[in-house]
Amino acid sequence: MPVEEDSNAKAKKDGEVLEQFLKIGLDERTAQNVLANSKVTVNLLEVIREAEIQEGCGKATGNLLYTVSTKYPTNALEHRPRLLKYVISNKIKSNPQLEAAFGYLSVVGSDKFDADIFEDKCGIGIDISPDVIKVTVERVLQNNMELILAQRYRMNVGGLLGQVRELQPWADGKIVKEEMDTQLKKILGERLPEDEEKLVKKKKEKKPKAEETKAAADTPKMDSDKITPEDSNPFAIFPKPQENITVHTEIFFSDGSIWRPRNSREKLQKHLYATGGKVFTRFPPEPNGYLHVGHAKAMFVDFGLAQETGGYCYLRYDDTNPDAEKLEYIEHIQEIIGWMGWKPFKVGFDDASLFLYHTFFSNNVFECNGSDSFVLEMQITFSSDYFQELYDLAVQLIKRGHAYVDHQTSDEIKEYREKKLDSPWRDRPVAESLKLFDDMRRGMIEEGKATLRMKQDMKNDNFNMYDLIAYRIKFTTHPHAGDKWCIYPSYDYTHCIVDSLENITHSLCTLEFESRRASYYWLLEALDMYLPYVWEYSRLNVSNTVLSKRKLNRLVTENWVDGWDDPRLMTLAALRRRGASPEALNAFCRGVGITRSDNIIRMDLLEHFIRDDLNKNARRSMVIITNFKDSVVEELEAKSWPEGKDGDPSSTYKVPLTRVVYIEKSDFRLVNSKEFYGLSPGKSVLLRYAYPIKCIDVIFKENTQEVIEIHAEYDQAKTTKPKGVLHWVAEPSAGVDPLKIEVRLFDKLFLSENPGELDDWLADLNPNSKVVIEDALAVPALKHAKIGDKFQFERIGYFCVDRDTTAEKLVFNRTVTLRSSYPKDLVPQS
Ligand code: ATP
Ligand code: MG
Repeated sequence: MPVEEDSNAKAKKDGEVLEQFLKIGLDERTAQNVLANSKVTVNLLEVIREAEIQEGCGKATGNLLYTVSTKYPTNALEHRPRLLKYVISNKIKSNPQLEAAFGYLSVVGSDKFDADIFEDKCGIGIDISPDVIKVTVERVLQNNMELILAQRYRMNVGGLLGQVRELQPWADGKIVKEEMDTQLKKILGERLPEDEEKLVKKKKEKKPKAEETKAAADTPKMDSDKITPEDSNPFAIFPKPQENITVHTEIFFSDGSIWRPRNSREKLQKHLYATGGKVFTRFPPEPNGYLHVGHAKAMFVDFGLAQETGGYCYLRYDDTNPDAEKLEYIEHIQEIIGWMGWKPFKVGFDDASLFLYHTFFSNNVFECNGSDSFVLEMQITFSSDYFQELYDLAVQLIKRGHAYVDHQTSDEIKEYREKKLDSPWRDRPVAESLKLFDDMRRGMIEEGKATLRMKQDMKNDNFNMYDLIAYRIKFTTHPHAGDKWCIYPSYDYTHCIVDSLENITHSLCTLEFESRRASYYWLLEALDMYLPYVWEYSRLNVSNTVLSKRKLNRLVTENWVDGWDDPRLMTLAALRRRGASPEALNAFCRGVGITRSDNIIRMDLLEHFIRDDLNKNARRSMVIITNFKDSVVEELEAKSWPEGKDGDPSSTYKVPLTRVVYIEKSDFRLVNSKEFYGLSPGKSVLLRYAYPIKCIDVIFKENTQEVIEIHAEYDQAKTTKPKGVLHWVAEPSAGVDPLKIEVRLFDKLFLSENPGELDDWLADLNPNSKVVIEDALAVPALKHAKIGDKFQFERIGYFCVDRDTTAEKLVFNRTVTLRSSYPKDLVPQS
């Protein structure tokens, strides 16, 4: 019967095909699967024929051929026989090599195939030695050690192998796997019964519904929406270094084209090879002033991301402008960054892992510390360290036709930009620009008579693509680079190049730089360099103060305040002097979050975080700030900490009680009222940590209503239980005045919320921003306080000892008052 004959013939044919597949080393199941898919079957048979291996081949080669049959780009069939030759001759040995080959072949034209480029892209002939594999595996295991120790053999080894592959794409997979197994065994020892158990995945806790919080009409909204604990990792938004191959930016050109910048796989691999796959960020202050609370946010983002991911953050001085920089600022910035708890990038490593970093450090000097390991002291970098590379790249840029020497004056440049017109020198010959640029470097051209400009897009919608200036002539000695140069690169030219040279993975900056992202990527692409992941966040603004360094500079140099660390300023030095801790400032930064919506943060939110921290960390003490005016001394114990433990000597301090006791003026009224908890004639109050007292007489200053003395009886048996509790300070012994201290009370520096916006912003200064009380009275225990010590003065506020303190006089700054004015329900959780 014909039907039966047909099916017999088909079965026979299938059998032959199956045999063919088994001959090239496919396992039975894969072979059957291929057979079930007629398209793949046709492809694979075609591949076998093209490769001329009908007689069979090894398993490894067969698997690669199978990959070719399923994944080969259909637009590049003409190149396939060529590729197969590489596979058969064992020059292409792995899937990553195949993928690189597919990438190249799918874009190369029919007559454009270049064997050198192809082999280079596929890593042909690159043999990764077992030693290199060993060190790479070691590094990956080290990076994941915490997880490995926790999960042991239940760890996802495939993930670890993937990380090795990212660093060493051309390494032999089999050797990598064997090395991984050996090293894991060394770390973990033999398998234990629990290693066979399945990992129980923790169920994700359900997010509680975000409570809607209604902001009072007059309450400025938080910079971010309320941050809830479950999304309290603000760094979760950033991609991994390994993912920096995808597109996240579109750049529009005036000719209608759209460019989507992304790294090629090769570029990314080279980058990952240099960094070991770690996160590298940079904090790039311009050393032209002290750092302020806004920089605390920038540091939280840059150093914080690096810390969170086990990476590194450079402190890079952005010192391309030789005019504004001062050594004082450089020194201060380093010191205050350390105080904030951040450690600029510094690596110590042994020579075994050296290779991983060799490209990375190729420009830096190694110091051998005498032992067999290297220590690299590289706590900071300067943009000016790269002046030579930047110059060489500028020459490259001209040669590639992407830059030209221009002679327009700054007014002309401005005018032409407004009219979207090309400079008359834009299309001059490359050789001419090269010569003129060299003249510029040699000091042959006067300042202002020539610039080097990037040849971008003068008709773009984005004015930051209007042929930005790359170099200017300036006959100024550079504080760091000396007098080697009389041309200086611009920020726009420098920043992206140095980021790329330092292999920065995440280049994070504030939103005003967003429009410069196009130029950032344009330049790196024009120079064929690695593209860091650029992302902008909102600038931190705080109410009733100014943060711009230019304005801060005026306040300081024109003596509106007492120096860069005047406690009324929002510089970090000032906040430190006022008594804020780095922990409080970082908690504040975490609280406001890393978002892109611009807003002004209320000063009292910052105060809330400072207070919260002091509540845990400031000792209690009693002080009378204004006062009134016989001989048993009783020593009482007062609490240093609200939750002080019994028997812990630091949890209490001694206060003497004598016949003369001082209380706050505001705690006494001649006429009592219901809501008043202080002392009045005939009324009782409790002296904190002491006894109830009852007012029995009042003495006035002669012929006035001014009270100068109150006579009171104390209830030694403590039978009365008055509602009011007062803080107080007594004469330490009869006739001896209590300890006198100076207290400085601070208020907002400016009256309006956003003084920076006012034309005459200096006129908005708050005349009462600082009040000095020179003779406040304190308990004797305070006598031993040292500069920087922090206290809660009971019922008054948090204070810290100022650096103006001398042996004769203690000076205290009020850090914050006791009560918060910030709406409780709007406070972000940290
Ligand atoms: P200023 O306007 O105060 O002079 P700047 O941006 O010129 O500030 P830089 O020293 O260049 O100051 O800043 C170093 C880093 O800190 C930059 O990445 C910058 O974006 C960031 N930064 C500066 N001010 C703020 C702020 N208010 N909030 C968050 N980040 C800031
Ligand atoms: Mg700046």
